[in-house]
Amino acid sequence: MRVLLVVGGGLFGSLAAAHARRQGFETRVFDPGLDGAASHAAAGLFKEAWAGKRFQEHYRQAVPLLDRLYGLKEVRLRQEDGSEETFWFVSPTRVLEANPIRERVTAVGDGWLEAGGVRHEGFVYIAAGIWCAEFVPGLNVTGKAGAAFLFDGEREGRMRPIARGKQALAFVRDAGRTYFSDGTAAMEYTPEHDRQTLHRAADMGLMEPKRRLWGYRPYVPGGPVFRKVGERTWLGTGGRKMGTILGAAFALRLVEEEIR
Ligand SMILES: Cc1cc2nc3c(=O)[nH]c(=O)nc-3n(C[C@H](O)[C@H](O)[C@H](O)COP(=O)(O)OP(=O)(O)OC[C@H]3O[C@@H](n4cnc5c(N)ncnc54)[C@H](O)[C@@H]3O)c2cc1C
Repeated sequence: MRVLLVVGGGLFGSLAAAHARRQGFETRVFDPGLDGAASHAAAGLFKEAWAGKRFQEHYRQAVPLLDRLYGLKEVRLRQEDGSEETFWFVSPTRVLEANPIRERVTAVGDGWLEAGGVRHEGFVYIAAGIWCAEFVPGLNVTGKAGAAFLFDGEREGRMRPIARGKQALAFVRDAGRTYFSDGTAAMEYTPEHDRQTLHRAADMGLMEPKRRLWGYRPYVPGGPVFRKVGERTWLGTGGRKMGTILGAAFALRLVEEEIR
């Protein structure tokens, strides 16, 4: 059987693994659960307007795949003036690999990797978010941190603009809890950012968060990167605020154009 080895079980790695599995690959996803991983904090929302002209093609390709793999849901968020905005939604909780191999990959070569002192052979996809540069010298990946908070109970979906292209969102991402995020993305994330975010949540009536989720959204200068780095090795990162769409578009590229 053809084997796909995936370094990182975030949105990028999990989407590639899910798609490859459906195409008959044996997949092994490695992820030790590093502090600062982004995907578990993502809202999982997307819409065509966010993709803009630049990522239009990625969007067009990604949406049918996400629908096939998980089924798209619609989320309606009410604005202050009573109008509603609709988003597509796939919860990261559904996407993220449930049982990755909890080992850190310590070395990657062309068509092999090493984890826990064991060498594995197959096609390799490096999807290690802000840690990708450890495997590809010269790759410049920076992280912009952001946090989301979970509150008890299921509240009505709401949104409030904060600045151009930035909004506070509250909705039920997973059963029983209300998810809140205000889109803050900072290289130097301080406790003041959290205070401000919690203040915005309180403005929507959300107090006493039960959980804080946070992580570094990966950014690459010049835009997201999907690259062949060896005969049997590829890399995908730079998901910024659109990890669901870009991760799915790159999963398609990997599985349907590169390793088939
Ligand atoms: C608050 C917040 C809200 C967001 N909302 C949205 C949203 O609504 N829609 C959207 O599309 N995007 C959203 N994003 C952005 C999205 O989360 C990111 O673009 C996406 O998660 C990046 O995925 P990734 O798989 O590249 O990175 P990560 O999720 O960081 O995954 C990389 C994984 O690699 C693992 N890893 C690293 N090194 C190794 C190694 N050596 N061996 C094995 N494993 C390794 C790490 O443990 C990690 O789990 C949001 C982000 C944040 C922080």
